[in-house]
Amino acid sequence: MQYQTKINYEPSRQAALNVLAKVDPAQYSRSRNFLDGAVTGLSPWITHGYTNVREATQILMKKYRLSFEDKLIFEFAWREFFKHVHGELGNGILSDVRRPVWAGRYNQQLPDDIEEGRTGVAAIDAGIALLYETGYLHNHVRMWIASYMVHIRKVHWKVGADWMYAHLLDGDLASNHLSWQWVAGTFSHKPYVFNADNVHKYAPRWDCTGTSIDTDYENLDVIARSKRDIGRERNARSVGIAQPTCGGFDLDLLDETLKGIHVDLRQPGEVENVCAAIGQFETVKLIQPWDLKACFSEKVASELRVGLIDCAFHEAHPWSGRRWAFVLDAMKAGCDQIWIVDSSKPGHNAAMLASFAKAKARMQMRDSLNPGYANIEKCFPVKLLRDEKLLPNPVRFQQSFSRYYKEATVMAGSLEEAIHELAD
Ligand SMILES: Cc1cc2nc3c(=O)[nH]c(=O)nc-3n(C[C@H](O)[C@H](O)[C@H](O)COP(=O)(O)OP(=O)(O)OC[C@H]3O[C@@H](n4cnc5c(N)ncnc54)[C@H](O)[C@@H]3O)c2cc1C
Repeated sequence: MQYQTKINYEPSRQAALNVLAKVDPAQYSRSRNFLDGAVTGLSPWITHGYTNVREATQILMKKYRLSFEDKLIFEFAWREFFKHVHGELGNGILSDVRRPVWAGRYNQQLPDDIEEGRTGVAAIDAGIALLYETGYLHNHVRMWIASYMVHIRKVHWKVGADWMYAHLLDGDLASNHLSWQWVAGTFSHKPYVFNADNVHKYAPRWDCTGTSIDTDYENLDVIARSKRDIGRERNARSVGIAQPTCGGFDLDLLDETLKGIHVDLRQPGEVENVCAAIGQFETVKLIQPWDLKACFSEKVASELRVGLIDCAFHEAHPWSGRRWAFVLDAMKAGCDQIWIVDSSKPGHNAAMLASFAKAKARMQMRDSLNPGYANIEKCFPVKLLRDEKLLPNPVRFQQSFSRYYKEATVMAGSLEEAIHELAD
């Protein structure tokens, strides 16, 4: 029996603000670990920048007295911590940060029974079905699936992380890949394991009695540090569910409206056409997929608003059709044009950069850590706007969350100061 997510992920800023208006931090703090607890469900909107944790905190503080001690603020900070680590390690977050918990080779492929959600472990199969159906998972289910795949089934954490990222509406390289590494033990001091009692406490409808996880933590730790794949349960279903298709950017994702406003800058002639046309605008605002709030702000006549898609990033990190619609619908609502680029073509991009520099366009874009988008200055003469954050970035790199939180909160002073100090 499934725990359904009650949220309809509409691609609009108002939908995000409506959900935020219902958040109750005290209830969140009491129940967040339970599958039917008062979690916010905000992550798809936060990930794509329809809103962000700083704005969410500002709005909540109009209604509630909050401080750095509040659980919700603490969880918001986890998101920023992962970004802090991503900012420091760059693409290093996509490989082991520390040594794995055993020396052998993990499985480099997703086993069929996991892909089809027919492992025989109720919490895993139901979680996979929910992931495919909705694109959202409760934190506990993400942890259980990751732990089961890495420690019980010996699937390499990166294989699992890439697969989960592709299906999530909120897939975020920093939060996702570093959480998988945290569970695996390559970004923490020990492997994270869970058992049937843990599932029974937080998700009683998913009975895992009698399965491979119905054992004590000591034994699970031994399993995690050994090389044996425990395999699927003997009484598991033989028929599973089909994995939805995920993919990179394709022009077929654009509907008639978007086709009418798209410009494919991978084609040399198009660069010259655009450079000739942008002269009439004071500013060209590039809106990348994680800054979609910008699609909903008031339109200024002197500004050209451009939704930006870098094919190279999306080739390496595919998305579900549902996620493409979640992003492209916002761009359709708020952009004058959609520009398609390919950051993996340095020669073409150097020429494009020179053409835009000659056109003297004033271009700006919100900073992004996502590869390709992170190096957008190699394509356009762009001024980068600072990512809107809740906490100041610690001066020194902190690899542990507790040390990060301590330093960031000391630097901020209080939560009130944090949300005012960092205003643009
Ligand atoms: C294996 C694994 C993979 C994950 N992948 C992602 C991912 O791709 N994208 C993503 O945004 N989060 C990811 N998380 C973190 C967390 O599970 C989700 O942010 C959270 O479940 C989203 O649901 P919510 O908005 O209802 O969260 P709530 O509990 O309501 O939290 C509110 C917000 O705080 C932030 N937050 C809460 N918990 C965490 C956390 N542990 N780490 C980072 N930020 C947090 C999120 O922005 C979230 O929207 C992952 C966690 C694990 C264990």
